[in-house]
Amino acid sequence: MGFLRKLFQPKKCVVCGKKPTNPTYYYNDNDEKVPVCDKCVTYAERRAYRKI
Ligand SMILES: [Zn+2]
Repeated sequence: MGFLRKLFQPKKCVVCGKKPTNPTYYYNDNDEKVPVCDKCVTYAERRAYRKI
């Protein structure tokens, strides 16, 4: 089902699971593009996600 995951990127913040209003996109450990909301950006930075 890997191709489906590429077609349908998650729209929720990957940290808190809420719908982000102004998401910043990062690559996670699996090189997937994931949205992170404003409040969780610091968490994403700590996880060493790479900013797109
Ligand atoms: Zn969040």
